[in-house]
Amino acid sequence: MKCLRLESPGKMTLQKVSLSKPRERETVLQITHCAVCRTDAKMWTQGHRDLILPRVPGHEICGMLGTQKHVVWPGRSCGRCVQCLRGAENLCPAMRILGFHMDGGFAEAVIVPEESLVPVPAELPGHIACLAEPLACALNALDQAGEIPGKTLLIYGAGPVGLFMAMAALESGARPAVVEIDPEKVHRTSRFLRRTGIEICTDPDRGDFDLAVNAAPSSEAFKDALPRLKAGGRFCFFSGLTTREGIQADLFNEIHYRQLEVVGAYGCTREQMNRAVQILARRPDDVETLIDRLISLHEVPSILPLVLSGKALRFVVSVEGSTSR
Ligand SMILES: [Zn+2]
Ligand SMILES: [Zn+2]
Repeated sequence: MKCLRLESPGKMTLQKVSLSKPRERETVLQITHCAVCRTDAKMWTQGHRDLILPRVPGHEICGMLGTQKHVVWPGRSCGRCVQCLRGAENLCPAMRILGFHMDGGFAEAVIVPEESLVPVPAELPGHIACLAEPLACALNALDQAGEIPGKTLLIYGAGPVGLFMAMAALESGARPAVVEIDPEKVHRTSRFLRRTGIEICTDPDRGDFDLAVNAAPSSEAFKDALPRLKAGGRFCFFSGLTTREGIQADLFNEIHYRQLEVVGAYGCTREQMNRAVQILARRPDDVETLIDRLISLHEVPSILPLVLSGKALRFVVSVEGSTSR
């Protein structure tokens, strides 16, 4: 089969390889679509904590098993530890991830554990369905934020994941607003914002939020958010920080004096993938507006710099190489 393999940082090439045999309780999924994530672009230049080379990247996968369409929960967990048993398999200490520890979705086929397959209704197109994984991660952040119906929620970053989070929050009866400092990004997502009625928060003094989540890696989000939370409010660390520049004791004292809560969110569970598929099936046309375009496997290396720059929305690899949707 054809696949794109990352050999060393900066070197990703299209190769023909033979797929190894699936082991017990594993199966071969014929890939139709795989979305390109900023993590893929980051590992291409600088590696990643969980990456072992050489590797076929890609963890936002949709494919066919016979006539049934599936997306893939990209983890492999032990199924026996405390975290797995309480339904938090994303926190399993033995967790291995497709596209990081195991070969992923920039290929014609992938070997996956049978239990990681999440069925997709036939009418939901594969190029939309493959975005279930980032949406599920956004759902995980909202789950960590606690009870959200009726709550005011401030999300930092109007990238696709921040906007997915706002869309899911809206569906759960919360009142989301999004902070985005790049006017270009607001412009490019204007169709999505119009369709969903999600508001960009332009008032830096507005401070009546129950919850805040960072969907952008700058420490500015954390610094800006804490003072804007109501006393007793909650901040969810969804995006890891690239630097912790300027985070002073004063900021931690906000947590102390106003009894704020800070929680983390990382990855997603199978149950959240299921819910994500249902949301995508209700809103395919909204989600479509966040896709830049479909590309073929061999185009991936050429768009990675753009993805890395944070200026792209989402590119989706159409594995048959067709650009039709
Ligand atoms: Zn991703
Ligand atoms: Zn486990």
